[in-house]
Amino acid sequence: MSKNKSECIQVVIRCRPLSKKERENGNEKVVQMYSREDKGEIMVGREGDEEPPKQFTFDKVFDEAIGQEQLFEESSRAIVGNVLEGYNGTIFAYGQTGTGKTHTMEGEQKPKEMRGVMSRCFEAVFNCIDAHKDAQFLVRASYLEIYKENIRDLLSPNPKNKLIMHEKPDSGVYVKDLSSFICKNYQEMQAVQNTGRKNKSMGETKMNARSSRSHSVFTLTLECSELGPDGKDHIRVGKLNMVDLAGSERQSKTDASGQRLEEAIKINLSLTCLCQVISALTDTKSSYVPYRDSQLTRLLQDSLGGNTKTVMIANIGPADYNTDETINTLRWASRAKNI
Ligand code: ADP
Ligand code: MG
Repeated sequence: MSKNKSECIQVVIRCRPLSKKERENGNEKVVQMYSREDKGEIMVGREGDEEPPKQFTFDKVFDEAIGQEQLFEESSRAIVGNVLEGYNGTIFAYGQTGTGKTHTMEGEQKPKEMRGVMSRCFEAVFNCIDAHKDAQFLVRASYLEIYKENIRDLLSPNPKNKLIMHEKPDSGVYVKDLSSFICKNYQEMQAVQNTGRKNKSMGETKMNARSSRSHSVFTLTLECSELGPDGKDHIRVGKLNMVDLAGSERQSKTDASGQRLEEAIKINLSLTCLCQVISALTDTKSSYVPYRDSQLTRLLQDSLGGNTKTVMIANIGPADYNTDETINTLRWASRAKNI
C-alpha cells in the first residue's frame, strides 16, 4: 500500500454522452477532456460565453467512449485486489441526478457488457477465490440506504424499519440488526443485489424520486483463513463498500417548508461532510477527520483513510444547460482531492 495519503484516494471523472432528448433539443456539448500520461484534464464552458471556460485536473478522466468494462478496469479493479489482501475499500459514485451514477454502479444485467462496477467487483472477488484453492473464504453481503440520516435495510422483508448505528471498542461501528447474507458464488451475490434493487424502487413509488435523495451502500465483507508458514491458521478480513450517492444538485428551497427543507438540509449535510472527511484525509497537515458528523461517514469510518483505498467516480453530463451543476460537481471533486 502507498504511504502517500493522496494516493489512497483516486478521483476520476466520467462524462456520459448527450441523451436522445438533449440531441433532439439541440443541446451542445460544453465538456472537453484530455488524458495525459498520469493525469486527466477537463475544460467546461465555451469560448465567447459570459464566463470563461473552467479547467480542472484529476487522476483520470473518461469521456462517453468509455464502456462499462474498461471503466471498471481503470477505476475499480485494483481496489478488489486490496480487499482480498485484507484491506478495506470504498467506491463512490457522485454527481447530479441523471449523470450516470446508477449506470456506473449497477448498470444493466443484460446484455452482460452493460453490467456496472458492482457486478464486476463480485465477479472479480469470486474469480480470485476460485483461484486460491489453499485458503478458505467466507463472503457476506449487506445493502442499506441512508435517507434523511435514517438507515433502512434494503434486504429486509420489512423495509420500513429504522436501524441504529452502534459502536463497540473492539469491532468498531456497526448497524444493529442489519441483514447480512453469506454468498457462495457470483450468482448468489448478484441475487442479493437484485433484491436490494427491488426494495429501493419500492420506496420510489411511495415517495417521489426518493433514490435521487438517498445514499445506497452495498457492503461485501470477505474473510480469508489461510495456513501460514508457522503452521497456524491466519484470518484476515477485508471490506468493500460500493456507494451510489444522493444526487448532488442543489435541493430546491422554493417550497422551503417541512419535508423538503428538512430533506434538503440533511442530504447536503452528508455530501458536505463526506467532502470534508475525504479532504482531511488527503491533507497531510490535517489531523482531525470529522467522521462523526453524518451517518454516511460514521458508517464508512473504517473504510476511509488509514490503510484503505477510496475511489471517487464523479459523474457529469456534457450539455450546455448543465454547465453550472457540472462545474459544481468538479469543484466538489477537486476539494475532495485537495487540489
Ligand atoms: P443517476 O443515477 O446519476 O441519476 P442514471 O445512471 O440513472 O443517473 O443515468 C441517467 C440516464 O442516462 C439513464 O437512462 C442511463 O442509462 C443513461 N446513461 C448514464 N450514463 C451513461 C453512459 N455512460 N452511456 C450511456 N448512457 C448513460
Ligand atoms: Mg441513480
